[in-house]
Amino acid sequence: MKIAVLPGDGIGTEITVQAVRVLKALGLPMELEEAPVGGAAYDQLGHPLPESTLKLAKDADAILFGAVGGWQYDKLERSLRPEQAVLGLRKHLGLFANLRPSIVYPELVNASTLKPEVVSGLDILILRELTGDIYFGQPRGIRVATEGPFAGQREGFDTMRYTEGEIRRIMHVGFAAARKRGKKLCSVDKANVLETMQLWKEVAAEVAKEYPDVEYSSMYIDNAAMQLVRNPKQFDVIVTGNMFGDILSDEASMLTGSIGMQPSASLNDSKKGLYEPIHGSAPDIAGKDLANPLGTILSAAMLLRYSFDAEEAAVKIESAVRKVLKDGLRTGDIYETGTTKVGTKQMGDAVLKAL
Ligand code: NAD
Repeated sequence: MKIAVLPGDGIGTEITVQAVRVLKALGLPMELEEAPVGGAAYDQLGHPLPESTLKLAKDADAILFGAVGGWQYDKLERSLRPEQAVLGLRKHLGLFANLRPSIVYPELVNASTLKPEVVSGLDILILRELTGDIYFGQPRGIRVATEGPFAGQREGFDTMRYTEGEIRRIMHVGFAAARKRGKKLCSVDKANVLETMQLWKEVAAEVAKEYPDVEYSSMYIDNAAMQLVRNPKQFDVIVTGNMFGDILSDEASMLTGSIGMQPSASLNDSKKGLYEPIHGSAPDIAGKDLANPLGTILSAAMLLRYSFDAEEAAVKIESAVRKVLKDGLRTGDIYETGTTKVGTKQMGDAVLKAL
């Protein structure tokens, strides 16, 4: 198992250390190699995704990623900003399928801002297409408007686009995942307004016919955003495009209480994947031993499950995390009265002990 470890910036370095300790403790035949990415790589090598880091990522079977970004890099030109490393890795490795599970652990039911009866027992998977849509479509830019009441002023424009093949590919990932879970899939689109999304809906319905054992439905994005806070337990797997998925998955993260608890996987069509917590580098708490490492540790469990089919090892990690929560240990972001507040390292120690 060749794993590239890219800690990145801010809390990225603190949380990946804990996930690496957990991976190493499993005693599996693993080679872990670390490289700088994001702002750290810019500082050391002048680029957020240096050739050496990209090569390591390409040669590895899986990548464990922390987070990138920091206030000190905000004034750099766009191509040199830390966040470009994430987009570059997705593009170079063809990571088109982003899986974000949202699970509410019984111990954290009160950490959500929603009522306990709405979120307790929640276990949904949001699958976001990651390499197409308006984020990558051409042409795009800022030009001078030539018509309309604002002619002569600057106008921003982007292109939403999906090919049939891209839609089909992400749908197959979604249906395969649904088969292993609650056997329900909801495709989210805006087919009533956008041509791209009309095609999305048509192709989704076609693919659905190949999975008669999975209950298929589709929903408009505005309704889905509302239903996700009204009654999130109606969903099992949600499949959607890049932009809608970006928004829905962050909304779903709040159902579980803290962004620090949430893992993610970004996969290509061979089993290679990049695994990372969904949050950023949290400069406000970086270097203070305050970050919750559980999202990254749970990402390591996804890494074992999706890139190596090591289901047993993945479940071991997830059970250790549950045990620690059951024992009442909490980092600041999930702390409530009556539980024990711990730092990043202590949380890592506790997971290792439970493991
Ligand atoms: P953020 O996710 O870093 O932080 C948002 C809030 O959540 C902060 O208050 C932070 O303290 C808290 N938080 C995040 N992770 C936590 C954890 N593990 N434990 C406890 N609390 C946690 O988002 P932001 O502040 O908007 O962005 C900071 C930087 O991260 C920016 O430069 C942004 O571009 C970057 N970013 C990177 C990624 C990535 O690497 N994939 C994703 C999102 C944002």
